[in-house]
Amino acid sequence: MTMATDATGSKSGSRRGLLIILSSPSGAGKSTLARRLMEWDPSLSFSVSATTRQPRPGEADGEDYHFLAEPAFKSLGAEGAMLEHAHVFGHFYGSPEAPVREAIEAGRDVVFDIDWQGAIQILNSPLGLHTLSIFILPPSIPELWRRLIDRGQDSAEVITKRMNKSWDEISHWRGYEYVLVNDDLDVTFERLKLIVSAERLRREQQPWLEDHVRRLHQEFEKGSRG
Ligand code: ADP
Ligand code: 5GP
Repeated sequence: MTMATDATGSKSGSRRGLLIILSSPSGAGKSTLARRLMEWDPSLSFSVSATTRQPRPGEADGEDYHFLAEPAFKSLGAEGAMLEHAHVFGHFYGSPEAPVREAIEAGRDVVFDIDWQGAIQILNSPLGLHTLSIFILPPSIPELWRRLIDRGQDSAEVITKRMNKSWDEISHWRGYEYVLVNDDLDVTFERLKLIVSAERLRREQQPWLEDHVRRLHQEFEKGSRG
């Protein structure tokens, strides 16, 4: 019997969705890498976070974030609708749980762009077993400054605030399964694709293997030679 496989060699249709967490200090390139991942495999879902921060120029409500006022954000938290949430750079951020559950139950992987506090909460949750955590380091601190400035979306004050917090985020790099130094973007992206492709083949991500091996066992017991 032949099995349909996707571009990464996984049996399609019956794979369990993976939670792919990308974290880094602000400006190291996680949003850029997340965007490339989504282009590479359109079946991936992006976890659109809720936040109380103001939209940046070009950011769309419901696409980049769900931009909420603080009371609305807090009531979502109180209802238990968040998979994780944290206070970052003076604002609240959180990942709504329902779309994540829906995607992974349908066998689709979900990409998260969240900080270390959110990553820990997901890794320690029942979904931790199905999580792939990747930390993105910048090649140097001057380059991190350059990237934040060149991005051109934050005021000088906000950039300084984010740079002052960058060490706090970097200091959590050991909590992640994979760490990539994002020097050359193309090289980093190739490595990211390799990691995602391999992790999709993890035993826990392929519940269909139980049936497959059961069938192999039955055939073995029957002494079947086909
Ligand atoms: P983050 O989401 O981690 O805050 P971004 O993805 O927004 O970071 O990247 C910050 C800036 O750096 C963007 O202008 C992006 O185009 C640029 N960038 C990302 N990766 C690289 C790279 N490897 N080399 C040079 N510039 C990069
Ligand atoms: P930004 O304001 O630059 O979009 O994001 C600031 C920081 O908040 C980044 O480190 C980003 O990964 C993190 N972040 C974004 N959404 C969430 C979320 O839903 N939960 C948590 N814990 N962090 C988030």
